[in-house]
Amino acid sequence: MGAIIVLMGMPGAGKGTQARLLAQRFGWPQISTGDILREIAETETELGRLVRQTQKAGQLVSDEILAEILRERTGRADCQRGYILDGYPRTAAQAEFLDALAREQGKRVIVIHIVVSRDSLVKRLAGRRSCPRCGEIYNVHLRPPREDERCDRCGAPLLRRADDVPEAIEKRCDVYREKTAPLLDYYRQRAAFFEVDGERPIEEIFRQIEAIVRAEVAGDDPR
Ligand SMILES: [Zn+2]
Repeated sequence: MGAIIVLMGMPGAGKGTQARLLAQRFGWPQISTGDILREIAETETELGRLVRQTQKAGQLVSDEILAEILRERTGRADCQRGYILDGYPRTAAQAEFLDALAREQGKRVIVIHIVVSRDSLVKRLAGRRSCPRCGEIYNVHLRPPREDERCDRCGAPLLRRADDVPEAIEKRCDVYREKTAPLLDYYRQRAAFFEVDGERPIEEIFRQIEAIVRAEVAGDDPR
């Protein structure tokens, strides 16, 4: 027995942070299909060539190939007790495959949706600033520099990424919502679907997610 953790949420909702914390706490691998594809694309294998060609043509790698890659990676020993997925599934069809894989592996899928309001996402992302000289990251709302729009460490004027302007963020939210709505619908009808309030501090969100996972795997001795 074991668990497969799927984290969902809009860009900027904090999925990556929570995935890292979960991986550390439980000692489970965080599996990113994007990273695996990048690795495979660098190999001189049949699959490596196929992935390179697909990406060069600007196409998405097929569901069948993704499924094979996922089955192989999650069949390794380090995934036995559980693993955390990053970037998968993205569609209801992929979620169906994941359910089948979970049955094969004797694992249960636990889906956690990190819910953040559109307003606070815009505020979070639009508030992001970075220092072009030393790379320090700020947020004018959450972690403001001491002097307005200047780096605390080196004094350089801070920059905002082009896609962190409110209009671009709204657009990203729309695209995300449209694309993942069917996936959310699919998971909402399942027993192991949870929503957590992503507006609270990172540690509090993590405590809640950790409690959900522990309760779900209570009988499994997850370390
Ligand atoms: Zn700086």
